[in-house]
This record gives sequence, C-alpha cells and structure tokens, in this order.
Amino acid sequence: MRRASKILAGIMRKLQRLIKVGISTAEIDQLARGLAEKENTIPAFKGYKGFPANICTSINAEIVHGIPGERVLKEGDIISLDFGINYEGFFSDTAITVAVGKIDSRLKKLIAVTKTALHCGIKEARVNNYLSDISYAIQNYVEKYGFSVVRQFVGHGIGRNLHEEPEVPNFGQPHQGPQLKSGMVLAIEPMVNMGTWESKIMDNGWTAVTLDGSASAHFEHTVAITEAGPEILTH
Ligand code: MG
Repeated sequence: MRRASKILAGIMRKLQRLIKVGISTAEIDQLARGLAEKENTIPAFKGYKGFPANICTSINAEIVHGIPGERVLKEGDIISLDFGINYEGFFSDTAITVAVGKIDSRLKKLIAVTKTALHCGIKEARVNNYLSDISYAIQNYVEKYGFSVVRQFVGHGIGRNLHEEPEVPNFGQPHQGPQLKSGMVLAIEPMVNMGTWESKIMDNGWTAVTLDGSASAHFEHTVAITEAGPEILTH
C-alpha cells in the first residue's frame, strides 16, 4: 500500500500541474488513465459499481463523483480530482481541490479550510484513539469557519478493496466507534460545503451536488495507523 500510494501521489502531482483554463474534464480523464497505466497500475474507479470514468472530476457545486466529459474548465472554477488505483492487488485513494486560474478569496478559504480539516482528522488517526475522534476533529475545525460538512458521503477503510470497513464520517461526537489499531489503513476524506451540508444526486445517477448550489471542496489521503503515529501514504 505504501508503494501504491507513492505512485498515486506522483500521478496526482502531475494532474494538478495540468489543471488550467481551457482543458476539458475528458482530457483530464485520459491523462489520468495514461499516467496510471504507465506505472503499471489499474485505475480503480472505472467500472466500480458501474462508474463510467477513470477519475472523478467535480466542479464548483459538485461535491463528489463528477463524471468527466466535454465540460471545459474556466477561470474562477474550482475542481476536485479524486483518483484511486490498484497496484498489485492493493488499493490507494486520494483527492485534491484545485483552483482554475484566479478564484475569489472565499473559495480560496474553502479550499484551505478543507485541506487543513483533513490534517486535523489525520492527527487523530492514532493507536488507541476512537474512530470518531477523526470525525469530530474534522467537523469541529470546519464549522468554526462557518462552512459545513457533507453527511451523505464518508471516508472508508482501504486495502485489498477500494472500500472496506469501517466507514469514516466527517462529523460526529468523539470517542465512538471502534478503537484504532496499528496496521489499519483509512481513506480520510472531508467534503466541505460553503453553504448547507445537504446534497442531492444529479440525473446522471452519480454526481452529488450541494442542495443550495454553493461551492464544495474535497481532500483525501490514504493513511496508515502505526505505533509511531499516522503515516500519510499518499503524501
Ligand atoms: Mg475515497
């Protein structure tokens, strides 16, 4: 999983640099596929429960599971890239939200708060802590800024499958759920909205968007819990 994640982190860095005004999400999808295949890995989302693309590209009010297509990025957009790979039977999963050209300061804040919220959660991914200590740390940080945490989608265990138990919510009271043990690996992934936490699914049956049309950001790391503390595998 360390190796899978290192490869994935490298792919994500390359994709991040390619995000610019005028690129279409279909192009991003093909670039992601090409980069994954070059590293002898298999894009993990394609065909997962019927998902039609290699990568999720979620723009502005789209929270997660945006489907790449003809849509072209324009100045002032924000786009979340969520990508997972299978390397020799082991999975890794990561997401970032990126500005397209110049974005307004409130969007910058949303992105910064979501990224820091992920790291607040990761800090709690320690032996003998409880699962919901992660959840609580994320929610507590996000709500201080007047933003909201998505409830309908959560993080997850990861390993020989893309999605394993336990679910890792980004909200809730501390000291609940299973106690964390060395060797567990979790995909921690706060999704943060500028307005309401409520969401709905678009007509394509996949893409979640904010109910009020406000912007949403998403960051994710695959994190191993070790005796020495949390290890961010997709760093
Ligand atoms: Mg995930």
